[in-house]
This record gives sequence, C-alpha cells and structure tokens, in this order.
Amino acid sequence: MIYLDHAATTPIKPRALNEMIQVMAYQYPGNPGSIHACGRVAADAVKHAREQVAALINAEPEEIIFTSGATESNSLFASMVGLQKKFLISTKMEHSSVRSLPSESAMCIPYHHNYSADVVKIPDALTGFRVAPRVMSVMWVNNETGTIFPVWKLAEICEAEGIEMHTDASQAVGHIPVDVKAAGVDYMTFSAHKFGGPMGVGALYVKGGVQKRHSPLMYGGHQEFGIRPGTENIPGIVGFGAAAEIAMKDMKEERRKYHQLRTAFLATLRSYITKPYYINGGENVVDNIISLTIPDVNSESLLLMLDAKGICVSAGSACNAHGSNVSSVLLAMGLSEADAACTIRISLGWDTTLDEVNTAAREIARAASVILKLNR
Ligand code: PMP
Repeated sequence: MIYLDHAATTPIKPRALNEMIQVMAYQYPGNPGSIHACGRVAADAVKHAREQVAALINAEPEEIIFTSGATESNSLFASMVGLQKKFLISTKMEHSSVRSLPSESAMCIPYHHNYSADVVKIPDALTGFRVAPRVMSVMWVNNETGTIFPVWKLAEICEAEGIEMHTDASQAVGHIPVDVKAAGVDYMTFSAHKFGGPMGVGALYVKGGVQKRHSPLMYGGHQEFGIRPGTENIPGIVGFGAAAEIAMKDMKEERRKYHQLRTAFLATLRSYITKPYYINGGENVVDNIISLTIPDVNSESLLLMLDAKGICVSAGSACNAHGSNVSSVLLAMGLSEADAACTIRISLGWDTTLDEVNTAAREIARAASVILKLNR
C-alpha cells in the first residue's frame, strides 16, 4: 500500500504511540480532577503535554485549550468571540469547518491569481464593515493546494483596524515554523493527527488565555479553564504533546525531505505523462501537498484506478469526499468546474519514501493515459 493522503490524516509517530500506550496500559487511569495520587499523575501528564504543545507554537501553556480536533477548535473560537453577532471576514478557500461557522454576515477577502489573499486591497474592502464588530479568520495553509497565506500581514491589518484575528493552522503546525507571537494572531486552531499525533485531539490557542468575556461551547465543568469542560482525553493529550516535541526536533529534516520528494515526484511525472497538466496553489506552497490537475482525466476515475493499484490519494480534501465531487475551494481559486473535477491531491508524510512517490507518479501517468483512451 502506498499512502499519499497525509493531509487527511497521517500515521501516529511511534514515540507518540508508545507514550499513549504507557498511559493507557501501565498507569493507573486517574482522572486529573481527582485530588488523590492517581489523579495527580494524570493532571501532571496534561500539564506536561500543555507545555510541549505550547512550545511548538511559541505560546504560553495557559494559552492552549485542548479540544477533540480542529473542527471543534474552529467552533470553540466562534463561540468564544460570539461570532453569531459579528461580521466574519474570511476567504472562500477555508476548510468547511470555518466556512460553515454561524456569523451575522461573511465578507470575503480579495485574492490574487496566485491564490493568496490580496493584502493591499483588504483595508479598502473593509470599508462599509467598519461600524460592526468584526472578526477575521484566514487559514495558514490551504488543505487542498498547500498554499501558504500571509497570516502575519493579515494580523497587522487586523491590529490596525481593531479586528480579532483567528487562523486555522491545521496544515501548518508541525510542518512549517509557526510562532503565534511573531504572527500576532489572537486565536489559532490546530490538530494532532495532521502531524504524527493521534486522532481526536487538537487545540485552540487563545492569546492571553481564557478571559471572562469568552463564551464556552459546552457547559458544566471546570476543565480547560471552564471553556471546554469534560474529562480530559489523557492518552490523546499525551500523544499530542509527544508529537509536538518530536515535530520541533524533526521539522527541519522533514521539510528537506518533503522538498526532495516533491521534486522527484514532479520530475517522474513529467517524464512519463503525455498529456498537459498543471499544479495548483501558486508559488508559495508547502512541499508536502501537491494539487495536480490533468484536464479531461476525471479525478474519481483516476482515484479508483490508483486505489486498485494500492495507491491512496484524494480528490480535493477528505471532507469533500462524500459531498459534491467538485471542490468549491478549487473553484474559488479560479479553476473551471471541468478542471476542478480533474484534480487530485497527493500529500506526503513523515514516513513517505522516494520509491513511493516515484511509483505513484508513474502509475498516475499510466492511469491518466488509460482514462484518456477510454474517453475517445
Ligand atoms: N481545518 C483544516 C484546514 C483541515 O485540513 C482539517 C482536516 N481536513 C480540519 C480543519 C478538520 O480537522 P479535524 O479532523 O481535526 O477536525
């Protein structure tokens, strides 16, 4: 099996898994809310993981709220700022868990042909929205194309305009350097299973920590500063913390590897493919996400042919997989409907090898020529 769908989820790293096993199998299953020794062990484990996760993004531990993942973190952010009564300033390229957030009204940030936000035009675009309370939410890295958005520049505009700024950094954290202090964001979403931690755990960074003005999403407990009550997912949180610590050590080397793998994939594809194709996302992309359009080669047919060969890639994002097969994100980025339906995402992970990307590139080229012949 060649797994190239790491942006959907990436396997847990062995050391993170091992730490989870230690907690689940060998430690007493204490509740961090209990004052006895077993409870204290669990509370210490959460404290340590909070420090590890905070260190990865240059935050303070009390600025980290553990959640069940990025979807929940996005909803928690919306609840905390009272988004329902505010204007949401955002892009059309956001993940569905941001695009679906309830707000008074949404305004879309102007963007360039290079798929990124047009920072120069934003202050003008904000005219007319100046009276209402506003919140901006712009993703750090797009999950379908890998495009890196200029979050730090947007945060500067937000500061000048008195707007609170949120970013969904699910595809950035653990892959590229993310420093919340340098970026100047107020809230940031991220998720463990995107960079070698377990599924079902994520976090929301809240600048300065939870304040009285923040409204919770769930009610009834003191956990997570009272803003995200419920008994903590100790094994998940411990695995998240370990993955964060590993990411800090491995990031440089992994980024170098992703660059090599991307270059090799594109070179092999170029030498085998006979049809025109193009790569989406613009100039400023992360190396581990490759969005490939082969016009007239339907992505669903291509995906199924690759699946039959034991190669897992995706059409758009996993979150679109069961809905419409044309990605609204790709349409917003300027692809025609026909080309958006002919786009696949190849995403690399920490355990991806050179052999795997070369095989995948060859098989994609072969499958594409079979589909094109069948089309005739
Ligand atoms: N935001 C982005 C940008 C994502 O890529 C994803 C995962 N596809 C999510 C949010 C949702 O993450 P989770 O599975 O942790 O809820």
